[in-house]
Amino acid sequence: MPTYSYRCPEDSRFDLVRPMAEADEPAQCPHCGQPSRRVFGAPALRAMDSRLRRALDAGERSADAPEVVTSVPGRSRRATPVTRDPRHARLPRP
Ligand SMILES: [Zn+2]
Repeated sequence: MPTYSYRCPEDSRFDLVRPMAEADEPAQCPHCGQPSRRVFGAPALRAMDSRLRRALDAGERSADAPEVVTSVPGRSRRATPVTRDPRHARLPRP
């Protein structure tokens, strides 16, 4: 079951795990017992590790705006270095 956030009239915030069908119904505050409304926002994101958040953001961005590259990542345009080892002369050529 998912976790939802609620804020009571006395401005205390609490999370509740409840079925999706009941998510929008007022929840009773565990501190004062008053009915509390669901709040939206990013309390879970704030607590999330910044590296994880960056990775998730990048993954989301790449879904509709993939980064354009002009060459294969991790490869340079430099020519293959020439070897001076005589044993390499016997290796098959592409
Ligand atoms: Zn309360």
